[in-house]
Amino acid sequence: MIARLLILGGTALARQLADALVASGSYDVETSFAGVTPDPRLPAGRIRFGGFGGPDALAEYLRENKVDLLIDVTHPFAAQISTNAVSAAQTAGVPLLLLERSPWMSTEGDCWHSVAEADDAAARAATLGRRIFVALGTRSLAPFLALKSHRLLFRAIAPLSPPPAHPDFIEIQARGPFDLVGERALLSEHSIDVVVTRNSGGEETAAKLIAARELSLPVVMIERPYRADDPGDGVVKVYHVDAALDWIVDRFGMANVYE
Ligand code: NAP
Repeated sequence: MIARLLILGGTALARQLADALVASGSYDVETSFAGVTPDPRLPAGRIRFGGFGGPDALAEYLRENKVDLLIDVTHPFAAQISTNAVSAAQTAGVPLLLLERSPWMSTEGDCWHSVAEADDAAARAATLGRRIFVALGTRSLAPFLALKSHRLLFRAIAPLSPPPAHPDFIEIQARGPFDLVGERALLSEHSIDVVVTRNSGGEETAAKLIAARELSLPVVMIERPYRADDPGDGVVKVYHVDAALDWIVDRFGMANVYE
């Protein structure tokens, strides 16, 4: 019997895991997307879009679809779906594997200000300089828009609609990954004083931190919310796709294609 795996996705890491699992030919893999990102890059395997309708409905989905393993590879800041996953996995009696990127760690030469929320980040950034690179998602923008005497540089995949009401707002469209040459140029061209970001981790968006270090710019870092962790909530947590693959092979084996 081929094991059925449900990946809660929406991240590059989820795509890499799904692609590897499908390429192994050993598992039946479905990736679930919330359906909020425009034109997402799709992994191999089966795909579904949209919320499940809460933890009980997710548990029902696991049972109905005879899912053998739930794998949470959602973004580290997507706290609700991860909480739902813990509850649903327990209710349905399905094991849960959590794969997330390691958080970024500051190093020599960094000047990081750790905060918990976007509100705190805006308040702190306002004291550190006038030109702020708000390297956050649209949903975290509101407290920055209240800083009317600051210049805000904002980067998004799709144009903001309607355009934000702010007297000095620069919006650029781009999709990561972002390299060091580009990030260095961006910070310099806009004479940025302070960078604000979330501790998403991963290589794809880390270059801005190196550029900030090189330019001796302060970084306001919004730290990750609490997510289910091993062993407290009975979840197995790993930080690399290879570690997730090893765990899955140990637990479910590789399909015998000659069966
Ligand atoms: P969230 O607050 O944790 O979740 C809100 C609701 O969206 C969940 O209760 C669930 O609805 C639905 N949902 C979330 N992820 C889903 C998935 N993979 N498949 C099916 N339904 C899902 O999440 P969020 O912060 O809005 O992020 C939404 C998605 O975007 C996540 O999958 C995440 O991986 C991705 N993403 C988020 C960020 C971020 O900054 N938060 C960044 C990059 C990518 P029901 O309760 O109805 O099941």
